[in-house]
Amino acid sequence: MKFNDALKDIKIYEAGKPIELVVREFGIAPQDVVKLASNENPKGCNPKVAKAIADNAHKAFLYPDDSFYELKDALVKRFEVTDENIIIGAGSDQVLEFISRALLVPNDKVLMSKVTFAMYEIYAKQMGAKIVRTPSYQHKVEEFIHAYHEHNPKIIYLCTPNNPTGDATSKEDVLKIIDAVGKDTMIVVDGAYMEYAAAKDEAYRITPNDIIGFKNVIYLGTFSKAYGLGGMRVGYGIGNSPMISELYKMRPPFNISTLSLVAGIEACKDEEFVRDSIALHTQEIGRYEAFAKENGFEYIESYTNFITYLFPDEMNSTDISDRLFREGVIIRNLASYGMNAIRITIGTQKQNDRFFEMFKKVMV
Ligand SMILES: *Cc1c(COP(=O)(O)O)cnc(C)c1O
Repeated sequence: MKFNDALKDIKIYEAGKPIELVVREFGIAPQDVVKLASNENPKGCNPKVAKAIADNAHKAFLYPDDSFYELKDALVKRFEVTDENIIIGAGSDQVLEFISRALLVPNDKVLMSKVTFAMYEIYAKQMGAKIVRTPSYQHKVEEFIHAYHEHNPKIIYLCTPNNPTGDATSKEDVLKIIDAVGKDTMIVVDGAYMEYAAAKDEAYRITPNDIIGFKNVIYLGTFSKAYGLGGMRVGYGIGNSPMISELYKMRPPFNISTLSLVAGIEACKDEEFVRDSIALHTQEIGRYEAFAKENGFEYIESYTNFITYLFPDEMNSTDISDRLFREGVIIRNLASYGMNAIRITIGTQKQNDRFFEMFKKVMV
């Protein structure tokens, strides 16, 4: 049997390690495991959403309303767009996949920053496309414009705030890139962590309305991070309606589940949960910054719900990640991204205490 040649070059996405693995391998009690590896919301699932899921569990035998009317309606109100501007995905990941499949043919080029969300590359390679990266992990306007003119990519990914580095690109810079790029290139503004950036600094807030006037730009958002619903798999893309209609051709029916739909709708009714999540985050991230300074290494200024620690040569990120893992602290090693760095999701106060304690322990 011969698989598609395009698959030869694809590395399987390395997801954050699950709690169950640490419990099995090291016999650590589940309640002692601290998982700060997948940028999940440390407040957990919004109790109102959990109740709605439970109350609707008996509907699991029904397919969901395939128009996703109520969820779209909530997004229409939140973002002041129309329902024809919205496509719902099983996570914004699925919208990324729709975009790749709708646009790319073999040998097309796809442009992204040096270190960014790993799935852009995987979805592009599935279609036989070639990856072009800018020299910096930050999204630098000149680098993107230069690479655009040199390579004429079919898609440009702007991940702001950027995962796994945590830095962000200002709205002004994103608009500069959009203005410099021709209409035959799709620009994806991936705002998976936008709620955090917008709360930190208005200059970084990008809303779907900022980009909807451009025929070649799509905004992606998700319920997985600030809304605390990673396990429900609900995300969305927002753009001009002709573009969204094309992406719809890629969508399987009922692509989010009946209970995911319930969860998304309920989550939209409780913006206070998001505000509380951001407040907790804002209170705790300062401790991570102070900890880096006290221990003599750098961090990247974060606009997300995680922080990236940059280690000097005498500290090895793989070593440190492994030793933390054995203590039941799961964080993300960035060695596979070519960085001697780790990415830590900001947890609850208690989880963060444990991280600092265990980090000090494994460093001696
Ligand atoms: C988490 C994340 C997503 C999407 O996550 P879903 O759970 O699929 O919605 C998209 N982009 C980035 C950069 C992310 O970190």
